[in-house]
Amino acid sequence: MPRQRYSNMNELAAFGFLANALDNRAGGDGDMGALFPRSDAEDMSKGARFIPGEVTLARRAGKKITFVTECGPNCWYWQMPDGSRRYHWDSLTYHQIGRANGRKEVKGKYSTSFEGGAGPCPHCGNPNTNGGTIKL
Ligand SMILES: [Zn+2]
Repeated sequence: MPRQRYSNMNELAAFGFLANALDNRAGGDGDMGALFPRSDAEDMSKGARFIPGEVTLARRAGKKITFVTECGPNCWYWQMPDGSRRYHWDSLTYHQIGRANGRKEVKGKYSTSFEGGAGPCPHCGNPNTNGGTIKL
């Protein structure tokens, strides 16, 4: 199955750009004071389906946050102003990684997860595939 990182994300990104364009509180960079920061919409155009609240809040406050997408979902992250990395969690990719690593699936109330997590990213070995914030 071909990877479709960008296919169904465009509507979300388009909505974000529109919401940002209509927001007359947004500063010159499109982020400061914006209900929907332009950088959030740009991240969505790169495939993010979810922007962590702390990322949006920091952008509204005028801080620069980079969405680093060198590898792929569950491996890409936001570089926060304090140097920490906020990892993205995508359920589809999480399950692909868990199965690729041969992890035991655990049925939960709402979804399945893996005993001990999905394991490292098969592409680069990054162990932070369960999402979360990593302090370096
Ligand atoms: Zn990776």
